[in-house]
Amino acid sequence: MRAVIQEYELSPDIVRRASALLREMRSAIFRRTDKLFAGLMVFQWLAGIVAALLLSPTVWAGEQSQTHIHVWAAIFLGGAIAIAPIAMVLALPGKTLTRHVVAIAQMLTSGLLIHLSGGRIETHFHYFGSLAFLAFYRDWHVLITASIVAAADHFVRGQYFPQSIYGVAAIEPWRWVEHVGWVVFTDFFLIISIVQSLNEMRGIARDRARLETVYAQIEQEVGLRTAELRESGRDLVAAREAALSASRAKSEFLSSMSHEIRTPMNAILGMAQLLEETPLNRDQKKYLEIMTNNGDALLDLINGILDLARIESGRLSLEEAGFDLETLVDGTVETLGVRAHQKGLEMLAHVMPDVPHLLVGDRLRLRQVLLNLIGNAVKFTDTGQVLLTVERDRESAVAGHLHFSVVDTGIGIAKDKLEEVFSSFTQADSSTTRRYGGSGLGLAIVRRLVALMGGRVWVESELGHGSVFHFTAHFQVQTDASVEKHPTVTVMLSGVRALVVDDNFTNRLILREMLSSRGAEVDEAEDGPTALEHIERARISGIPYQLLLLDCQMPAMDGFQVAEGVKAGAEEGLTVLMLSSDDLKVQLRARVNWESMHTW
Ligand code: ADP
Repeated sequence: MRAVIQEYELSPDIVRRASALLREMRSAIFRRTDKLFAGLMVFQWLAGIVAALLLSPTVWAGEQSQTHIHVWAAIFLGGAIAIAPIAMVLALPGKTLTRHVVAIAQMLTSGLLIHLSGGRIETHFHYFGSLAFLAFYRDWHVLITASIVAAADHFVRGQYFPQSIYGVAAIEPWRWVEHVGWVVFTDFFLIISIVQSLNEMRGIARDRARLETVYAQIEQEVGLRTAELRESGRDLVAAREAALSASRAKSEFLSSMSHEIRTPMNAILGMAQLLEETPLNRDQKKYLEIMTNNGDALLDLINGILDLARIESGRLSLEEAGFDLETLVDGTVETLGVRAHQKGLEMLAHVMPDVPHLLVGDRLRLRQVLLNLIGNAVKFTDTGQVLLTVERDRESAVAGHLHFSVVDTGIGIAKDKLEEVFSSFTQADSSTTRRYGGSGLGLAIVRRLVALMGGRVWVESELGHGSVFHFTAHFQVQTDASVEKHPTVTVMLSGVRALVVDDNFTNRLILREMLSSRGAEVDEAEDGPTALEHIERARISGIPYQLLLLDCQMPAMDGFQVAEGVKAGAEEGLTVLMLSSDDLKVQLRARVNWESMHTW
């Protein structure tokens, strides 16, 4: 910091301010030292009287003793010496004259004390102490005045009263010069230290003056910036207000427009449906189909716009009602399972065992999000599978915070479009509209709905390698009811030997996990013949299977054929459950009382 300040340009203003600061600093030192000397003067006066009383209190005059002249000298002369500087300190503190009067009085005090001690050489040290003390002023002129007084005192008294100052009746004529020489010697070092100290003070004053300038400039700058910020803040608030009211107006307009369009649109579609049931020729049927398809697409678009407008204008609030997650997942997957099956896709869903089923939240909005993501997955996948997984959100300890993911093996999304697809009317590739249809509103709505549910949505994808859409959502858990449900299921399956037969690996994995989490011992077979082998082996070993889960559609040998094979073997006590991912009704060959199995 100091280096930075020292680099700061030494302008005339700074120089002026530095001199003023130096003056202030010195004036404070002068006043402080004045006060110290005033106190010292009083002390020395009293000490002189005490010394006189101790050393020579009385003197014999004939038979009478009387007070020694020294005592009177200590009282009156000492008082006279002390009175002037004390008065000056009180009247003119910090002034040059005061300092010099103090210096003269201090030297005279030294002289008086030497006289009172009978010229003892040891008392001469008082001079040196006094000089050192005078150096406190950090003004070498004072030392010169004091030294002149000391020299004059030594010279005059050496001439006329040598006993008073040197303690002997006769002295060599140049003895005073020797004494003065030691005083000059002391002065020399004291003056050097005063000059150094003054230089340091000058440096400090300059630094402080620079610092003050820097601070003043910073303050000015901050003041300016604050004023600018305040100004732009006001502009921003006004702009925000304007934007918000424009956005509200837009949302309200869209909302009422969508509503107004929806009513006649429904009438058009309804009429088209009625028309479909009347006798029509081939061309008319084709035109009607095109009309219905486009009408449906338009209605979807209007519904999307209505949803977006409602969310944006803050008019969409979520419902808080109890629902069963498993039923909702089953229903949603079932709805789209038909379309998936028509495209030859496997449709799978897996709710992790630790996910609470009985929740509180907005069932319809959750279903809307799932329909959208799974619908997209089916739409953009030509071969392979679509898998919905529901698990607890690992980033939260709350049981109702869930993480949903929809995995597909479809066309995927380019890296640079991963964020864009969540914007309104945006499609990853404009050619998709032509090929797959759609408005580009679905994910924008999903993002807003998920945010309303306290979660977020994101996607991982690679072009040509499928996509994974994730979202989190917060629900409350209906604790009492969910606690009741699971133990009965777990008890029912504990120790049950089960065989899962499905050609799809993921499906086998899901079923295995569902069964083993409820206590069953699970084996797998990927096709019918292997399944029959397993069943036969288990029967021979004396521990036959009690539960058989069959995928109804498998290459080579389908679920029904496997079930026939089992029937031929007349398995006793075997529960067979047929699972289908198309729109066939679930086929139960035996009574099954396991309610939580997914059937679609
Ligand atoms: P829409 O499907 O009606 O066009 P969305 O908002 O649902 O609108 O999706 C926006 C775009 O994101 C889609 O047009 C498509 O380009 C891309 N997209 C969404 N889901 C998938 C997916 N599962 N696989 C590949 N692309 C997808």
